[in-house]
Amino acid sequence: MTRPIRKVVILGGGTAGWMTAALLAKVLGVTTQERKIAIELVESDDIGIIGVGEATIPPIQQVNAVLGIDEAEFLRETKATIKLAIRFENWGAIGESYYHTFGAAGRNLPFCSFHHFWTRARQLGIEGSYWDFDLNYLSARGGKFAPTTGNDPIWDMPYAYHFDSGLYGQFLRRYSEKLGVVRTEGKVRDVQRAAGVGDIMALVLDDGRQVAGDLFIDCSGSRGVLIQQQLGTGYEDWSHWLPCDRAMAVPSQRHAQTAPFTRSIAHGAGWQWQIPLQHRNGNGLVYSSRFCSDDEAAQVLLGHLETPALDEPRIIHFRTGRARRQWNRNVVAIGLSSGFLEPLESTSIYLIQSAITRLLHLFPHDGITADLIGEYNRQSQIEMELIRDFIILHYHANQRRDSAFWRDLRQMEVPERLARKIALFSANGTLVQDQYDIFMEPSWVQVLMGQGILPADYHPLADGPSEEQLRRQLAQLAQLKARPLDQLPSHDDYLQRFLGQPA
Ligand SMILES: Cc1cc2nc3c(=O)[nH]c(=O)nc-3n(C[C@H](O)[C@H](O)[C@H](O)COP(=O)(O)OP(=O)(O)OC[C@H]3O[C@@H](n4cnc5c(N)ncnc54)[C@H](O)[C@@H]3O)c2cc1C
Repeated sequence: MTRPIRKVVILGGGTAGWMTAALLAKVLGVTTQERKIAIELVESDDIGIIGVGEATIPPIQQVNAVLGIDEAEFLRETKATIKLAIRFENWGAIGESYYHTFGAAGRNLPFCSFHHFWTRARQLGIEGSYWDFDLNYLSARGGKFAPTTGNDPIWDMPYAYHFDSGLYGQFLRRYSEKLGVVRTEGKVRDVQRAAGVGDIMALVLDDGRQVAGDLFIDCSGSRGVLIQQQLGTGYEDWSHWLPCDRAMAVPSQRHAQTAPFTRSIAHGAGWQWQIPLQHRNGNGLVYSSRFCSDDEAAQVLLGHLETPALDEPRIIHFRTGRARRQWNRNVVAIGLSSGFLEPLESTSIYLIQSAITRLLHLFPHDGITADLIGEYNRQSQIEMELIRDFIILHYHANQRRDSAFWRDLRQMEVPERLARKIALFSANGTLVQDQYDIFMEPSWVQVLMGQGILPADYHPLADGPSEEQLRRQLAQLAQLKARPLDQLPSHDDYLQRFLGQPA
């Protein structure tokens, strides 16, 4: 198809649909005298949204920055809290926990990352946890938060948010409509295609209305109404690596004090999330139906709630994997229609953001070409596979002996790229940063070591200081890292002050 794109139609009004609408409207503009791309979003109130997806990672701040969103208003309207980390409990071995923080431990020297010095110290018998050098960890553990503004990057404390997914969608809807995005309520029952089976020309709604466009963004959730039901793109199944296929979600009352981190608690056949919001907790159990019935899942989930449930639990089915092409003909799949990776590392909303950013870079202003489609699909595939591998690592590198679920996962053959990463790190702490990997070295180090994979050796530069110097430097560094802690308010006090209301 070579005609210029004048009208974009987005199918779906969940997080994916409204985030796409907001960013496209802001960056491309909508129909006004000077701007020439119209955006219409179609959503069905009857079908509704998935209603989960409440923990994010720091790049979400870029979305807010591009949209020019005031942080206090955003936190207020979406009942959001601050997220500094995820605490993984019982993942390595039962009773053990570690944090995957958004920060970085210690201070890197040229050519030689901090974990090499720490590894040498450990081998010399110098005591101290790797995480003691990470301000995000120290603040999360202490339930503290305020944005740090130190001149030295050593005190950077990257953060993200937990928010109410329904409120977030509504927030972005108001924003988008103000920019001129047209919302049409209705259920798509069919499409009109060029010459029968070509590009999609229009959505056909239940009542016969038609919504025509040049480019269609499929944000219809796991149904994949356009990318799968209409175009039959096909799906690559990854459930042999990630066997969880269901989630059970239930909200519960908020805790007296809200923690600035997500909890991920491993159980016999899956794991439980706990996401603190201002007005409630989001909870859920991700599990494998091969190892755990729905009744057992309900028992595990409800039995581990720390505050009273506010609703009945509901079950969500999913299949881990990805659409074989994220962009097919004149349809781009964004959100759950493009594939599914379980929310262990809160990456789905990030994948939405990244897909929109990619589409904006490769936007087919003058018409869709095979090159644009090819490049978009290439990047999307690599990015999703890298996140998949990172998630597999959590499951595979477990020390649990208590269930067939964990034993099978420990023994499974992992993707070759991941096997190589684990082998290199185990040997001498080497990590190679892949292009398009959202997870940088500090993330890999934390999860590898948190799950019990420690390097046998370290970089030769870590042998630079004498043992005594190393001991002294590490003690000074730990003190330096912790310096801002005394000044930081509790997370709740911060929210209360920042928002000017009881959190
Ligand atoms: C259990 C679970 C927990 C999760 N937790 C996280 C998390 O913590 N962090 C994270 O980043 N991500 C998380 N995710 C993923 C996250 O929920 C999704 O990526 C996000 O909500 C986007 O969903 P969506 O907009 O693609 O789909 P939906 O929310 O399902 O929206 C689909 C939209 O399409 C519309 N629609 C569908 N069919 C039609 C039709 N025929 N006609 C008209 N309209 C139609 C619906 O009405 C709806 O508006 C989680 C997912 C699951 C399953």
